[in-house]
Amino acid sequence: MNDIPKPREQLFGDLWEYSTAPQGSEFVQYRDEYGHFIDGEFVDSEEWFDSTNPATEETLARFGVAGEETVDEAVSAARRAFEGPWGSMAASERAKYIFRIGRMIKEKAREFAVLETMDGGKPIRESRDVDIPLVAAHFFHYAGWADKLEYAFPGVDDPEPVGVCGQVIPWNFPLLMLAWKVAPALACGNTVVLKPAETTPLTAMKFAELLQEAGLPDGVVNFVNGAGDTGSTLVGHPDVDKVAFTGSTEVGKIIQKTVAGTDTKLTLELGGKGSNIVFEDAAIDQAIEGIVDGIFFNQGHVCCAGSRLLVEESIHDEVVSKLRHRMSTLRVGDPLDKNTDVGAINSEQQLDKITRLVGVGQDEGCDIHQIDCDLPETGYYFRPTIFTGVTPSHRIAQEEIFGPVLSVMTFRTPSEAVEKANNTPYGLACGIWSDKGSKLFDVAGRLDCGVVWGNTYNQFDPASPFGGYKESGFGREGGRQGLLDYMKHS
Ligand code: NAD
Ligand code: MN
Repeated sequence: MNDIPKPREQLFGDLWEYSTAPQGSEFVQYRDEYGHFIDGEFVDSEEWFDSTNPATEETLARFGVAGEETVDEAVSAARRAFEGPWGSMAASERAKYIFRIGRMIKEKAREFAVLETMDGGKPIRESRDVDIPLVAAHFFHYAGWADKLEYAFPGVDDPEPVGVCGQVIPWNFPLLMLAWKVAPALACGNTVVLKPAETTPLTAMKFAELLQEAGLPDGVVNFVNGAGDTGSTLVGHPDVDKVAFTGSTEVGKIIQKTVAGTDTKLTLELGGKGSNIVFEDAAIDQAIEGIVDGIFFNQGHVCCAGSRLLVEESIHDEVVSKLRHRMSTLRVGDPLDKNTDVGAINSEQQLDKITRLVGVGQDEGCDIHQIDCDLPETGYYFRPTIFTGVTPSHRIAQEEIFGPVLSVMTFRTPSEAVEKANNTPYGLACGIWSDKGSKLFDVAGRLDCGVVWGNTYNQFDPASPFGGYKESGFGREGGRQGLLDYMKHS
């Protein structure tokens, strides 16, 4: 790569030291402990665990661990609400509650953003500009559907809700995953018991406080805290009518076995190993921005991350050179600093997993490049990393790392690009970069994945369905399609 001309753009990141631009957190309010939220009330717990701030390693609050009895109480409360006030409410009234929740999220947006960043480590720029606005947008979108369900299910006279929904979510977009699950369930007239992820339960508890303030009838939405055992109890509960899970493929398979042979409905949003496919006719500078966003957004803790870069061989060196150049401007550090691009890794456990898989990439002989920057002394951080010289048989090209680590591969023809992109057990998302619309649409149609972005990446809208193929799961969240699994309509 020695004879590659240096890009002409200026590296402002190198020219100046940035002052810090801290987002204050004095104004946020949360309790020292949250047990569970059942039947409209916070209830005590026998067992507890702490959730920490991964950027500082400080404990934020302690949260309950729900055992069988507590999960059962939550499911019973949800059943009573379903058979009582919520189930008999006019759809137009239901819509008002969902709309009110969206409004209140907007009013409290900054507080939610700061709490999301403190509990999970994501940059405030992202929680403030992406997560929380999308949360509100999902509630607004589904508020609009609540009294128009006959249009969502043409030919079905009287679409009925499924009943009590048991939902389990991961830690990478805590409040957004909650919104994806709760908003469509409520719009269809169901009630909910949801288990937040154990490293990021805080915004779900703030959301429970918001529901109290919104006057949502008791028992319509319940939260049980805890780790995998609590999740397992919830999804196996005999009175749960529908299970919605977002998380790893490994756990998704266990859940699928649990509900097999019962009449519980199931949707699974699982892992991914998405690729950005860059053709030589692409606008390279824009593609670089998409590649950076695809893998470094939210520290790469994104199920649809573009964690593989497939670049046409003729432009490989140019793309890698520009990418390294652009990466060097990324600021890694305090998630509450408004200038931060890459925040803290969500947990020590996740940091260990990333470190281990990066070690595997090195052991397998791939060429590593990491940006040269200081990392804070406390907290869990990982330098943005790319591997070149990767082939589809390398583990880092197959396994989900779920961190800021990109594997770069090359291709010569569109068919080879498609073959390589499809060569993983997953099928969640891909990006295609080309100046030729016909090529872009042709390739898009041959990719086995739920979402394909053209000349962009990581675009989300509540009207647009999201979900996987193959081991990335089944069922769709978002849009009209997101209603289908929350109704009986066959
Ligand atoms: P995980 O599967 O370990 O945990 C997800 C949730 O499931 C947590 O709340 C956890 O407590 C719970 N859980 C664990 N074991 C369980 C069991 N046996 N039964 C029921 N619940 C159980 O995943 P994670 O490491 O927390 O999250 C990262 C994974 O989630 C990645 O693989 C990522 O791709 C995936 N993810 C997918 C999407 C999507 O929409 N497809 C979105 C975000 C994350
Ligand atoms: Mn935490």
